[in-house]
Amino acid sequence: MANTLGEILTDSGLIWKAGVPLRTLCHWKIGGPADYVIEPRSAEEAAAAQRIAGEANVPFLVIGHGSNMLFDDAGYRGVIIKLGRKMSRCRFSGSRVRAEAGIWAPMLARACAGRGLAGLEHIVGIPGNLGGLVYMNGGSLRQSIGDAVVCVEVLDERGNVAAVSAAECNFSYRHSVFQEKKSVVLGVELELRQSTPGDVRRKMLEILKERREKFPLNLPNCGSVFSNEPPLYETYGPPGMVIEQTGLKGARVGDAEISARHANFIVNRGRASSAEVFALVRHVRRKVLERTGFLLRCEVCYAAPDGRCGRLDAFL
Ligand SMILES: Cc1cc2nc3c(=O)[nH]c(=O)nc-3n(C[C@H](O)[C@H](O)[C@H](O)COP(=O)(O)OP(=O)(O)OC[C@H]3O[C@@H](n4cnc5c(N)ncnc54)[C@H](O)[C@@H]3O)c2cc1C
Repeated sequence: MANTLGEILTDSGLIWKAGVPLRTLCHWKIGGPADYVIEPRSAEEAAAAQRIAGEANVPFLVIGHGSNMLFDDAGYRGVIIKLGRKMSRCRFSGSRVRAEAGIWAPMLARACAGRGLAGLEHIVGIPGNLGGLVYMNGGSLRQSIGDAVVCVEVLDERGNVAAVSAAECNFSYRHSVFQEKKSVVLGVELELRQSTPGDVRRKMLEILKERREKFPLNLPNCGSVFSNEPPLYETYGPPGMVIEQTGLKGARVGDAEISARHANFIVNRGRASSAEVFALVRHVRRKVLERTGFLLRCEVCYAAPDGRCGRLDAFL
């Protein structure tokens, strides 16, 4: 049944929204319309969306908070499955927590702090959802979410719910097995350490203070654009420092700008387009290559209009 908002209500009550501007679903505030966006409330609804996209032979892409995504100016010709607030329950049992993939990472970190459970302090300032964090094996302060994972519940490529052990997740620096498989992360079980609410909260406040001082949080951005590869780090330092020393702070293509505050961030000064971000990323890589001999790799993911998705540098 279609209504005037371009929404289709299926028999199950799942709403398919048509023509949703992707800039409203990501932190960079860039991206044209997606054919359809749905936000499932359960694993069954996520499976139904995956099946319907498969039967219609259109691509689908799972996203969380869109904090590590560049969408294209031309949008996405398929179905975006957003795992967010509607799948964000968590349940504690001793030092373990089972959380759904849509929970916002800072919220999960705070819930753990309230119970005096330590181990997730480093994610308190990461503005993504748990599913995206596991997909990216994100983290900070030389820690990654994978360090605490016991197992991950996924919807596999055939639409079956399956458990993936921590070892099978194949976690390494900003990498997980989910980057190779087209599975949907539905939920995660994490093992934490008993501490006290006061100690955990104190650590989190320190981390948040440091991040506020370091990162340009007042303009739309996607966090670190380039990944901190060990060979570059060992020879020249982190990408932000290398880009700064290459004289690129403040470099701009249209409204996409290398942040004057942290050179590994590209900020959107108003109406930046995906084409402008691509041009700026190419420019930075060329200049850094000329100076250091290292070709920067991207941490940020890009969704092409035709359904392909991967690290941005794979599309340059
Ligand atoms: C200001 C700022 C600071 C940041 N700081 C950090 C930091 O300190 N450390 C860090 O690691 N990252 C950081 N990031 C990047 C980003 O927040 C993380 O990568 C985060 O984990 C992405 O989660 P998300 O829900 O937003 O994922 P999205 O951006 O929505 O998606 C990212 C990728 O994950 C996939 N994905 C998302 N959800 C699922 C799912 N349920 N199942 C399968 N695949 C899925 C998507 O297809 C996409 O390929 C920062 C970003 C910003 C804007």
